[in-house]
Amino acid sequence: INSKFPDTPTSIFTEMSQLAIQHSAINLGQGFPDYPMDPLPIQGVTKAMEDGYNQYAPSSGYLVLREKLAAKTLKEHGQSFDAQSEITITPGATNALFTAIATFIKENDEVLYFDPAYDSYRPSVIAVGGVPIAVPLSYPDFKLDIDLLKDKITPATKMIILNTPHNPTGVTITEAALLKLHDLLVGTNIILVCDEVYEHVIYDGQKHLSPLAYPQLRERTVSVHSFGKMFNCTGWKIGYIIADKHLTEEIRKVHQNNAFSTFSPAQMAIAEYMSDPDTYQRLAGFLQMKRDLLMQSLKDSPLKPLAVQGSYFQLYSYEGFSLMPEKEFAIWLNREAGVTGIPLSALCEQFGDHKLIRFCFAKQDETLKKAAKRLCRLG
Ligand code: PMP
Ligand code: GLN
Repeated sequence: INSKFPDTPTSIFTEMSQLAIQHSAINLGQGFPDYPMDPLPIQGVTKAMEDGYNQYAPSSGYLVLREKLAAKTLKEHGQSFDAQSEITITPGATNALFTAIATFIKENDEVLYFDPAYDSYRPSVIAVGGVPIAVPLSYPDFKLDIDLLKDKITPATKMIILNTPHNPTGVTITEAALLKLHDLLVGTNIILVCDEVYEHVIYDGQKHLSPLAYPQLRERTVSVHSFGKMFNCTGWKIGYIIADKHLTEEIRKVHQNNAFSTFSPAQMAIAEYMSDPDTYQRLAGFLQMKRDLLMQSLKDSPLKPLAVQGSYFQLYSYEGFSLMPEKEFAIWLNREAGVTGIPLSALCEQFGDHKLIRFCFAKQDETLKKAAKRLCRLG
């Protein structure tokens, strides 16, 4: 066959989750909570179904939900976006990212993103004939340094994908870096896609910074969000895009022929649930305790934590314990210690092997303690 993706392997998340099942390991690999979501939106979905929300939603989503999102964005970033023409509900953030890339990237256009990265960026760019350019972060600080991007900009650069808080390193962008990005992009025709799925998962009193807050950046920003991460329901696959009207008009041309619309009952349930912002604002404190619990419980293990400011994830170095390559180590750890993590190299193109494994700490305290006990036995 005429394979378009000859070098794209099965997603590492699928591979490691399957291995976890095979070896009955504790799965700290794929990023999903193992604790239940709040029952309220579940009841909301049932009610929406009973109330008859079982047919196609409007292509861009129910207005009641988009209005809630416009109000949220105004409150958090001081910028008003029109619910009618600037917000689009999508079947998850991965779909939203693909839509954004397919909308703006033509054959041979270059797309820059920091390396390591969420694994859908590269194949999505390739799928539409674009050229993915992975820009390695520095080690061990993983600073989201705009100068690294600046060096890679060419006349063919049409998009930058920024992810903050960043999966898999947990770093976040600084105000100074966003201002630098602003100066770099103003006057160009480069689109900024900002993957903000961990916007409410940010620690130590930090505030999430979005390019939507900067008037000249917002003109060229497509920001991507996930309710799965906001409400502990990754399996619901529902998210949204915020973008200026002139960008949204283009995005909807792709969205209407890709997804057309998104699961109706979940939209109604989320619109209702979002009336109380505490539902997502408490997430950061809740997960910070889990981050700290895992770190504390691994104190006597041979795994050493790297600093993390946001996201579900923390990188741990096993350099002092083993020199196995990351993928081999992750498979070994799964089999021998009964704990599953994601080898960082699986989310890298240029970054290299630094003996790092990613653990997801969005898990019940008992799960984290049990996993840590197993890892401490490594000696
Ligand atoms: N971007 C990043 C950085 C992610 O970690 C994920 C996975 N949650 C996504 C996008 C995809 O989100 P969704 O599950 O809504 O497709
Ligand atoms: N975002 C999740 C992670 O990084 C997984 C998403 C997926 O399974 N594709 O673990």
